[in-house]
Amino acid sequence: MIGRVNNSLISICLGLVLAVPFAVAAEDEVNVYSYRKPKLIDPMFAEFTKQTGIKVNSVFAKKGMIERLQSEGVNSPADLVFTVDIGRLSDIKNAGLTQSASSKRFSDDIPANYQDPKGHWFGLTTRARIIAASKDRVKPGEILSYEDLADPKWKGRICTRSGKHPYMVALTASMIAHHGAVGAKTWLTGVKNNLARKPQGNDRAQVKAIKEGECDLAVINHYYMAKMLKDPEQVPWAESVNVIFPNQSGRGTHMNVSGMALTKHAPSKDNAIKLMEFLASDQGQAMYVQNNGEYPVKPGIAWNDLQNSWGEFKEDTLSLAVIADNRVAAIRMADEVGYNN
Ligand code: FE
Repeated sequence: MIGRVNNSLISICLGLVLAVPFAVAAEDEVNVYSYRKPKLIDPMFAEFTKQTGIKVNSVFAKKGMIERLQSEGVNSPADLVFTVDIGRLSDIKNAGLTQSASSKRFSDDIPANYQDPKGHWFGLTTRARIIAASKDRVKPGEILSYEDLADPKWKGRICTRSGKHPYMVALTASMIAHHGAVGAKTWLTGVKNNLARKPQGNDRAQVKAIKEGECDLAVINHYYMAKMLKDPEQVPWAESVNVIFPNQSGRGTHMNVSGMALTKHAPSKDNAIKLMEFLASDQGQAMYVQNNGEYPVKPGIAWNDLQNSWGEFKEDTLSLAVIADNRVAAIRMADEVGYNN
């Protein structure tokens, strides 16, 4: 009888261990939930461990992070959350799952427009939403701004992904901030009217469509150029387009971030802050630039070769917190103009 009880206790314990791989917060560890692919952040974690002796346990998830943190509640082992896009960062904050870390040293390294005013999330890298233009069919200087995308001269010549994808939502949210709801809606209607096809696929699929002659302009995140140039099948797609950083004579190019947030119940808060500091340090930022092709959020960090080949550009300094506030209106606007229809 005793033996049977012990056996079932053991299997219950095993089940818990499997479901929650790092339930106990060890003194020299930090636990991370990540929407970022392991290969993008593992090199930084390894370097951090080498320097501090603090082990980083990371769990990669494609979705469901908010639900997981909510169901774990105060017992969550997670100290830090890593994700891309202001939408996801602000969703985690708005769900009440984060805490402020703004009094700490690294927050001074990150420009104010790329962090939550109350310190609940911080950008680590930035990504420019650029225009890719056919080398064969669009002359240099023919398109200079996001506003130009609504010009009827581009009718039937533009490809984008879904108007409700977070990358497009953030761009529309920035247009709302700059032009007001009425101006932004006129713009989005104009872009929709210029689409060559129903929105579909990811950013790279739009460049492929340019290569194949289906459209002449696409809106993409800059690092997909680097990714395409590393994939033999996709090199011709990348080489069929010129890269345009929009709005250089005005407010600058729309930027988004990948970022991090300290969880509300972080059991290893001190270690988590140390990891945040490392990732925002010169060394952490330089690793992001070289490994991921994203721009450093911290000023003064050397760029990679592709970034240097494109040269300096002006960034829109609109606070991502403002973009976050306009996201719901932007999603509604995509529906109202039938962007995806
Ligand atoms: Fe992406």
